[in-house]
Amino acid sequence: MRHVLAADIGGTHMRAAVVREDSAILARVSAPTLPGEGFDAATEHLSLLFQQVAARALAPDLLAIGISTAGPVDPTDGTYRHPPNLEGWDGRSMIPMLTDHLGMPVRVGHDATLAALAETRWGHRSGAKHLLYVTVSTGIGAGIIVDGRPVTGASGGAGEVGHMIVAPGGASCGAGCPGCLEGNASGRAIALAARVAIEGGAHTILMTDADAAAVFAAAEAGDSVADAIVEGAMGHLAAGIAGLLAIFDPEVIILGGGVAEGFVTRWDALIAAIQERALPRYASGVPVERTTLGDEVGLLGAALWALGEE
Ligand SMILES: [Zn+2]
Repeated sequence: MRHVLAADIGGTHMRAAVVREDSAILARVSAPTLPGEGFDAATEHLSLLFQQVAARALAPDLLAIGISTAGPVDPTDGTYRHPPNLEGWDGRSMIPMLTDHLGMPVRVGHDATLAALAETRWGHRSGAKHLLYVTVSTGIGAGIIVDGRPVTGASGGAGEVGHMIVAPGGASCGAGCPGCLEGNASGRAIALAARVAIEGGAHTILMTDADAAAVFAAAEAGDSVADAIVEGAMGHLAAGIAGLLAIFDPEVIILGGGVAEGFVTRWDALIAAIQERALPRYASGVPVERTTLGDEVGLLGAALWALGEE
């Protein structure tokens, strides 16, 4: 069976693995990304991680390298375009150095796009030709598969669904678009709403440094302020998902990411909120489900990218 090297690069951590063509992960290693140390240092470090996993997996015939990364990134040549969480990497591509060091072809793709690809091949809805993967985490983005092919846009920037306006005049994301989905339903938005409530004198068990997970936990514990924040975020998320259903008519929208996990205990309410906002064609139900690939989705998508399976 064929084997490839796969990597998943986020703002805080990067992971490298050897993946077999049947989706088995044979060896893996993780390290801090440290984008502030510079692009060349990070690329050198990733090259070393690849060498480590390759030695550990004892896999014969490594074919290629696939990299799933936080973006925006141009999938044609791997060039970063002002990535908000990988500061200083703008205009750079890892492909030349990795090709030189490791002597095999390298393909780079956007993490949400490759997650969507992984869902169409190895997720519980494998075989789907029209699928969206929406990651709801610190930020919000989507990978789009239409007719079995990833949609990446003219410059690799497609799928930034976090910046759809769902709450005109509402809170803004880090990119500065008031009322966008990311500004009102992301992990960052939930944490910010908690801080605003506390500073406004709200009676709550939350602390000012509460993150989204703490807000979900407080809501579960019966804290009414936390509950209102979670319900507000849920309404905005539902509006965004209903819009995506209308635009893409997908077979399924898969939700992943830490904040999507936070909604597990009120999943039925989230689905009802989406349905309430969706077109009449969804009167009998909305095709929205949770990922079953968990944390592996990035590495698996990168492996498929390396295998040329798009
Ligand atoms: Zn925005």
